[in-house]
Amino acid sequence: MTKVLIIGAGGVGQVVTHKCAQLADVFTDIVLASRNEVKCKKIAAQLEKNYGRTIETAQVDADNVPELVALFNHHKPFMVINVALPYQDLTIMDACLEAGVHYLDTANYEPLDTAKFEYKWQWDYQERFEKAGLMALLGSGFDPGATNMFTAYIAKHYFDEIHYLDIIDVNGGDHGYPFATNFNPEINIREVTAECRHWENGEFITTPAMSTQQSFTCPDGVGSYNIFRMYHEELESLTKHYPSIKRAQFWMSFGDSYLKHLEVLGNVGMTGIEPIEFQGQQIVPIQFLKELLPDPSTLGPRTKGKTCIGCVVRGIKDGKEKTVYLYNIKDHQDCYGEVQSQAISYTTGVPAMIGAKMMVEGIWMQPGVWNMEQLDPDAFMADMNEYGLSWKVIEEPGFNLI
Ligand code: NDP
Repeated sequence: MTKVLIIGAGGVGQVVTHKCAQLADVFTDIVLASRNEVKCKKIAAQLEKNYGRTIETAQVDADNVPELVALFNHHKPFMVINVALPYQDLTIMDACLEAGVHYLDTANYEPLDTAKFEYKWQWDYQERFEKAGLMALLGSGFDPGATNMFTAYIAKHYFDEIHYLDIIDVNGGDHGYPFATNFNPEINIREVTAECRHWENGEFITTPAMSTQQSFTCPDGVGSYNIFRMYHEELESLTKHYPSIKRAQFWMSFGDSYLKHLEVLGNVGMTGIEPIEFQGQQIVPIQFLKELLPDPSTLGPRTKGKTCIGCVVRGIKDGKEKTVYLYNIKDHQDCYGEVQSQAISYTTGVPAMIGAKMMVEGIWMQPGVWNMEQLDPDAFMADMNEYGLSWKVIEEPGFNLI
C-alpha cells in the first residue's frame, strides 16, 4: 500500500494525478489537495471516467504549515508530490519534516516578493531531511527534471568528461490566442523577464533578458525556431554537480506575438510584482494580469503542434572531442487525447510521476535533499520511454550553436 498526496490541482497537477492513477500497482492510494477543492473534484471525476479509479480530494492552504501537517497526519501518505507553486516549497518541506513524509517538487523555491529563484533555500534542508530519514527530490519536471536526467545519462554513457552544455526547449505548439502562457502565467512571466545568466569559466555571467538569440532546427521535421538564451534553475545544480562544465546555457523558443505582447505589457507595468494602490485596494499587477489570461489548463483542446526539448553536450571520450544530442518530441494533441492536457503540463507531470515511482520503488530512496542528476539516470530514462516521453540520441548532430 503506497499512498501519495498530490498538492496543486492546476495544469501539472492534472497530469501527475492521471499518470499516478494509471499505475494502480505503484500508487495504490491517491489524495489530491489544492486551495480550491472544486478543481480537485473535477480531476477526480476524469479519473473515475477514464480508469474507473476513485481518489480522495481535500482543500488545503499550502502556505500554512499547521494546516498541511494536519492534512498529512490525517491521510498518512508515504510522500507528497508538490505541484502547487514555487512559493509553497518551503512550507511543504517544513510540514513533511514535522509529519515524517517524503517530498518531491518540480520547481525550486522562489519568494513571492523577489523574482529570484535559487536552490540555496532548499539545499539548506539537507541535514534536517537526512537526520529525519526522509528524502526530498528537487525539480522532477521536464526542465528542470528530464533535462537533468538527459545530461546525467549522456555524461554516464557517452563521455569521460563533459565540457559544454546547451539545453534547448522548443515549443512548436500553437493555441491560437494572441498571448497565453503554457504554465502558470505569473511564474512563466517572472522567469522570462528575469535577467539572463549563463555559466562560463567558473562563474555565472549576467546579460539583459532575451538579448541573445539564434535559430535552431529541430530534428524529425518539427521545424526551425528562434531560441533565446535565458536563466533556468537546472544550470545552478548541473554546474555544481558537473564541475568539468566550462559553459552551460539554456535556450527557449518564443514566437513573435508572445514577445511583442510581453514587451508592451512590461512597458506599461503590467508584469510588475510590487503591489500598487488601485481604488483603495493593493493589487499586484502580474497577479491581476494572470486573472485576465487564459488558464493554461484550458489550452489542451486548442493547442496543436509539438514540443522538442533536449540537451546538446560536447566533451571528451577516449581523448577525442565529440557532441551528443538527446531529446524528446511530444505532440500536444496526443497529450490531450491521453490526459486532457497540453504537452507543457504533460512533459512536466510525467517526470514528476516517474520521480515519485523511483522513490516508492526504493530505486532512488535515500535520506537527504537531492537534485535529479545526483541519482542514477538509467531506470528513470527507461521509464520515460515506457510512460509517454520516449527519447532519442543523435551523435554528432552537426549543429552550429553559438
Ligand atoms: P497552475 O497555476 O496551473 O496550478 C497551480 C496549482 O497550485 C493551482 O491548482 C493552485 O490552486 C494551487 N495552489 C497555488 N497556491 C496554493 C496554495 N497556497 N495552497 C494550495 N494550493 C495552491 O500551475 P502549473 O500546474 O502550470 O504549475 C505547477 C508547478 O509546476 C509550478 O511550480 C510550476 O513552476 C511547475 N512547473 C515546472 C515545470 C518543469 O518542467 N519543471 C514546467 C511547468 C511548470 P488554485 O487554482 O486554487 O489557485
